[in-house]
Amino acid sequence: MPTIGFISDLHLTEEQPERIALFLRFLEQCSPKLEQLYILGDLFEIWLGDDLYPPAYQPVLDGLKQASNSLTIFVMHGNRDFLMARQFEKLTGCKIIEEPFILNLEGKSTLLMHGDLLCTDDQDYLKMRELLRSPEWIESFLSQSSQQRIETAKGLRQKSQTAIQLKDSEIMDANTDEVIEYFERYQVEQIIHGHTHRTATHNHTLPSGEQTIRYVLDEWHDLYGQLLISDQNGLHFEKIQS
Ligand code: MN
Repeated sequence: MPTIGFISDLHLTEEQPERIALFLRFLEQCSPKLEQLYILGDLFEIWLGDDLYPPAYQPVLDGLKQASNSLTIFVMHGNRDFLMARQFEKLTGCKIIEEPFILNLEGKSTLLMHGDLLCTDDQDYLKMRELLRSPEWIESFLSQSSQQRIETAKGLRQKSQTAIQLKDSEIMDANTDEVIEYFERYQVEQIIHGHTHRTATHNHTLPSGEQTIRYVLDEWHDLYGQLLISDQNGLHFEKIQS
């Protein structure tokens, strides 16, 4: 079985160059240790279309391209960077995967997702998500000029920040019933996700009595990040430091 790494929620932005540098060093060092890397959403704080990214992202795209020569990198959309598309794949050599993505890890069926779909207590967010992911909205957004897109994104961000301030933090966590529902619907033994930034290893007992495990990935910070590794010893977290 290959050694596989999972990371999520790097939220890279031009405003935090240290975090970009940390990620670039990680990419340089992760092969030959890892054979595959899965990035489970929110690699970037914001992605307004493959034709519109700040110059500060260029080294990240180049770093991914370089790293993808020696390992396979899979990227899942998060709620911040769901507009990454074909040109992103070409620029980076990464392969975009859709959620839910199921793979076999050392004999255990494992479901990968960003994690926001598990937060069913936040219905307002899920409604907004449905709108923003619709082909009509995406087409209309991408047809706007760069300036318009930046303005639209700013407006959406402000709305979302105001909404978050008014919400109980429990509302923005994964809903346990929905988690159980995912385990049962997809018949998996493990789920790996990010999004909530509440890293943990949760044990869930299904109504059938079956024991399952859910690994929640941490967000990355300027000076450290987190990697979940799957190898012959099973799944374990590792701290990435600058
Ligand atoms: Mn997220």
